[in-house]
Amino acid sequence: MARLVAPDKGVREVKIETETRERIYRPDKGGVYSVENKKHANHMKQEGFIEASLLGGASTAGSGFICSACGFHGFFRKCGRCQHETTDIQMDSTIEGEQ
Ligand SMILES: [Zn+2]
Repeated sequence: MARLVAPDKGVREVKIETETRERIYRPDKGGVYSVENKKHANHMKQEGFIEASLLGGASTAGSGFICSACGFHGFFRKCGRCQHETTDIQMDSTIEGEQ
């Protein structure tokens, strides 16, 4: 099973169409799509989806990006709350006292 994250936080779901039916994938709370169908996973990667494992353990708490403007903790460099693009904080940095 592939674990993928969307290239854009604005993506809410992904629809994969096959000859016979369509399949809707939605992310879990962490923004990770669990895709059991390998073809679908490859299709999504072509659309720009990224393997969660390539994001340095995106499935574990404490990874991702902390917005340098508002402190929002998200998967993506571009803040999902204020749209500020954080450029100077490393993925594995630990923010003490951040909640
Ligand atoms: Zn922000």
